[in-house]
Amino acid sequence: MTSIYETDELRWQAVQARDAAADESFLYGVTTTGVFCYPSCPSRAALRKNTCFYSTREQAQTAGLRPCKRCRSDEPPLKVRQRLLVEQACKLIQAASEGIKVEALAEQLGMSRFHLQKLFQQFLGMSPKSYIKAVRARNVDQALASSSTVTDALLSAGYDSSSAYYADGAVRIGMSAHTYRRLGEGLSIRYAFGKSQFGKIVVAASSKGVCCILFGDSQKELSEELTARFRKATLIRDNETMQQLVADAIEGIENPLLAEKLPLDVQGTAFQEKVWTALRQIAPGETASYSQVAAAIGQPTAARAVARACGANPVAVIVPCHRVVGSSGKLTGYRWGVDRKQRLLESEQEQRAEEKASTLVER
Ligand SMILES: [Zn+2]
Repeated sequence: MTSIYETDELRWQAVQARDAAADESFLYGVTTTGVFCYPSCPSRAALRKNTCFYSTREQAQTAGLRPCKRCRSDEPPLKVRQRLLVEQACKLIQAASEGIKVEALAEQLGMSRFHLQKLFQQFLGMSPKSYIKAVRARNVDQALASSSTVTDALLSAGYDSSSAYYADGAVRIGMSAHTYRRLGEGLSIRYAFGKSQFGKIVVAASSKGVCCILFGDSQKELSEELTARFRKATLIRDNETMQQLVADAIEGIENPLLAEKLPLDVQGTAFQEKVWTALRQIAPGETASYSQVAAAIGQPTAARAVARACGANPVAVIVPCHRVVGSSGKLTGYRWGVDRKQRLLESEQEQRAEEKASTLVER
């Protein structure tokens, strides 16, 4: 196999050095004991004059020698056996649809946890635990690309709850699953800037619809936030294709009754998506409290989580998180400034009043 042990002199050196790297190249027999060994055999080295070399186990056996019990020369070399064990362990980890524990894995392979640990370090440079995490993380990555919600992806990757993933994910990528997904890996996202009466905006869209509308003070600030949100996507500034969507977005921001016609492609966790859908049920000019939204999605104790989901809303105004207020009616916070929230709500209330008035006139 390898050519570095091609002379008996080199082979003899390997035997004296108990060089495990030579185990896959040749075996040596000791004529005085009638035993053949791998070069790495820990037995006391024989004298050079009593030693002969063989390329295969069969050749040694044909020469009338018997396998050594210490280096188990009737089996593949130690290194090969170890590699096979590690491979087997990796397969078991990959096949485990649910998370597998290191203890259980070691037991299945008939070795101690310590030994398994040592082999993984030796062959893969990482502990079995790290490998298990890496496999699950990769499974999540693959599942995220194909499933409709993060929760589905986590379940299909063998996490029984998203918190288990977040624990791993925090170590691995320093962010949560939904943030990771929002980075837009594999997506082409087109964007363009615009100006509404409530401030400068950037509108970004996938092939399915608008995925992001942000307010900001400058194009530079807006580009930076967009890039941070979709770090893994291909971002294409495209004024021409986006022209209509930007116009529709501005129209929807300034006249909420027209917001519904804007196609959306908003990605979040299952919970966030539920909250964002509920927000769209709050009519323009009206407000709801965080606990009312929590009750509306059937999780009355989740008011704080609702507030967080509002803060994570990627589509300003069209997903009307500005219509959610504190239970006292106080405006509390807004991702794009409480002042802006107030102006948005006032404008909606005025429009509503005008509409009522015009309806009365028509009658
Ligand atoms: Zn031996």
